[in-house]
Amino acid sequence: MNSQRSNLASTLHSLDGRSYGNYKQIRGSYEFGPVTVFIDRVQVDPFASPSKVRVRIDRAEAGFPTDITSERADRIAAADFLFRVGDSFLHRNDRRSIILGRPGQEVLERTNVVIDDEGFEARLLVNLPARGRRILGHQAADILTRDLPELAEAMFVHANLPQVDKANSGRPGQVNGSQAGENLREHVQLHRDQLELQNHLGEAGLLAFVGNGAILPRRSGDSDLPMESNAVAFASPSSLEHTVTLSSGRSLTGMAIPRGVTVIVGGGYHGKSTILRALERGVYPHIAGDGREWVITEPSATSIRAEDGRAVTGDDISPFINNLPSGTDTRAFTTTNASGSTSQAANLVEAVEVGARSLLIDEDTSATNFMIRDDRMRALIPADREPITPFVDRIRPLFTHRGVSTVLVAGGSSAFFEVADHVIALDAYVPQEVTEKAHELVGMKSADDTGEVFTTPQPRVPTAKALRPSSKTKSAKAKGLGQVQFGKAFIELTAVSQLVDPQQTTGIAEALEYMAEIFDDRTSLTEALAEVEDMLDAQGVDGLTGNRDHPGHVARPRAQEIAAALNRFRGLRLID
Ligand code: ADP
Ligand code: MG
Repeated sequence: MNSQRSNLASTLHSLDGRSYGNYKQIRGSYEFGPVTVFIDRVQVDPFASPSKVRVRIDRAEAGFPTDITSERADRIAAADFLFRVGDSFLHRNDRRSIILGRPGQEVLERTNVVIDDEGFEARLLVNLPARGRRILGHQAADILTRDLPELAEAMFVHANLPQVDKANSGRPGQVNGSQAGENLREHVQLHRDQLELQNHLGEAGLLAFVGNGAILPRRSGDSDLPMESNAVAFASPSSLEHTVTLSSGRSLTGMAIPRGVTVIVGGGYHGKSTILRALERGVYPHIAGDGREWVITEPSATSIRAEDGRAVTGDDISPFINNLPSGTDTRAFTTTNASGSTSQAANLVEAVEVGARSLLIDEDTSATNFMIRDDRMRALIPADREPITPFVDRIRPLFTHRGVSTVLVAGGSSAFFEVADHVIALDAYVPQEVTEKAHELVGMKSADDTGEVFTTPQPRVPTAKALRPSSKTKSAKAKGLGQVQFGKAFIELTAVSQLVDPQQTTGIAEALEYMAEIFDDRTSLTEALAEVEDMLDAQGVDGLTGNRDHPGHVARPRAQEIAAALNRFRGLRLID
């Protein structure tokens, strides 16, 4: 079905005043000069979820340089740039019926805008206008035959892209420039450099890098934008300072956190949690102007916290918890209501199970009895009456036996001094390395490791039906950032702090459906996740939705967060 512009416009004009259901006639594709508009799905009534529409321009007409739109990673960065251009275009022109999705501070792989070998495409949701249940045909014609092609040409014709006037850049109030994030080439180059630095971390035995000059604090507890005034720019302690020169010629200096155990100490309100939160987010690349562009963390790093009340299914938490008074086997620990300590142990072993090579832990969100036990308490309660082996006793073997590093914020206890390779003290947001002093204070004995506490746990194999609720209808959907509805159950993800965009939550819902087809009473949870990762690497996020023409708005979640959802699903059942 391929009609011309005048066709769609005249159809819409003729539909004006008719009942809403008649909109379904406009399904199809339409050419507007270089722009093709695809009307893939038409909403049945004005209150239903919006209609699905795509706009597309072929490469030849778009005129983009191929050197920054060919490699997979470059396409993700370039698509992110165009997504932001489209977003500011829609806002500037107040096009409220057209929904492109909202970009955040991270550059994520998403379905909203994609670049492929043939061209450039945006996937939109459009609220087709109505008065009551009557079609507003003239307005609909404006939206579909004027606004959409204009949007496509603003995003996808290279010559139309906004260029930041260098002389004026940085001038306050230059919303346009800072939102678009410099120009396209710089956006792609920044992304390349960030990925190169992230790769460099692995080769150099580093866990994270925090560039000098970085702005870590955010504007407020509910804003991810950088703090505007009074932010103290990051400056590395000289002993941890590291300079990297990237192949682009860009040279960066900042704090390198080595693999191993790093403890961050300091007085209350001196910026400890702020650093840790920046490291959590550092698994994703950030846009220019964010302040965290050069906060780069190795990609598997996972934040671990206590989360009492969560469900746990068959986790081996025995390295931390044993001999429960109930007699429960902690090598396959199952509960519908975990405590602070058991939930934190579960979060930790699950993260390691999916391949986390580093853990990020904040005292503010930890269970004290999971983390430490002081000498008097050890004297008072005999070891055989205490099921918990605190994390402080496991943090070193976790590194030496399993290669899992930890960055830990601990301002309230010196217990971790003797197991730390590095102790960093924050004083009014300024870090200093205080390892020697901390080691002296505890009369440093060489931290020797107790036996093989981390034996490789049994793979957990979900049952074939675990993820297949009885109803035939679409079973999983995201409810905002922090929840997935799965069949009749709700999966609570508010404690999963490295989930940063609600579209990732949608990605998780899609991934659960995808995995429902994989589980067959034999495939383990980690094997299924690896299969999803391979598919995502090969097909992009579109692959999650079975490559529907219009996949909706989905962003790529990490395997860690997909696993987090699966592990919190109360219906998860395992083969014994
Ligand atoms: P802590 O965990 O040490 O108690 P936080 O990290 O929670 O401290 O920070 C306390 C406050 O200081 C927060 O409001 C935070 O936004 C602010 N803050 C953190 N780092 C900086 C900084 N570099 N410059 C200015 N303010 C900061
Ligand atoms: Mg704190």
